[in-house]
Amino acid sequence: MAIKGVEPTQSAQPHSEPNRRMVIAAHPDDPEFICAGTVARWIKEGSQVVYVICTDGSRGSNEPDMPPERMAPIRRAEQLEAARILGVETVILLDHEDGTLQPTLELRRELTRLIRRYKPDIVVCGDPTRIFHRNTYINHPDHRAAAEAALYAIFPSAGTRFVFPELLEEGLEPHKVQEIYLYGSPEADTWVDITETVELKIAALKAHRSQVEPDFVDRRVREWNRELGRQLGVDYAEEFRKIILR
Ligand SMILES: [Zn+2]
Repeated sequence: MAIKGVEPTQSAQPHSEPNRRMVIAAHPDDPEFICAGTVARWIKEGSQVVYVICTDGSRGSNEPDMPPERMAPIRRAEQLEAARILGVETVILLDHEDGTLQPTLELRRELTRLIRRYKPDIVVCGDPTRIFHRNTYINHPDHRAAAEAALYAIFPSAGTRFVFPELLEEGLEPHKVQEIYLYGSPEADTWVDITETVELKIAALKAHRSQVEPDFVDRRVREWNRELGRQLGVDYAEEFRKIILR
């Protein structure tokens, strides 16, 4: 993997077992915008990827004739289709209400349970410190809530035996995640070359038909990833802040 400034990712897992990676996001379509090229690349390299989507995406339309109960199943189907295109094996939809997600202990427990069950070496999640993007965008509070719950599920909850002891009763032993890839971070330090998977990313994004115009994806998303590619001297890239837990 081409990564600027740091050594390529090494897994401590035996070679016979695929690496397991997990993406934790607030909404259906977040993973496709942020890291689908990286996800597709990891899958092509033999990793297994699990998506965890915290909300049901049900507030994804302002149209009066598209209330939450109509929107939710559409978002679900779109996310499953996007995951199928990328080769993501497992999609877990936690179905919390879109728009009002909170980083509660309940959410942290749910995510801890999934990390202990699937044992990812790398987790991709958001950066909860990001409130503004330039002078034009307020980060959605669901993004920050999912990111905070994810980080504290990774540490200390997933790796500490007696945090959420009820998980031990479910047979879920502690698991230590090795690396976190934060997306949407103002302190990005890691760029992943997605030149060979950008078309898969575009196709997966277009599966979110209720959210994106195909033309926007073709133009703006391609442009954005091309801009990030310049950081690495490649055609297309995605960017992260990488946290290595030792
Ligand atoms: Zn979102």
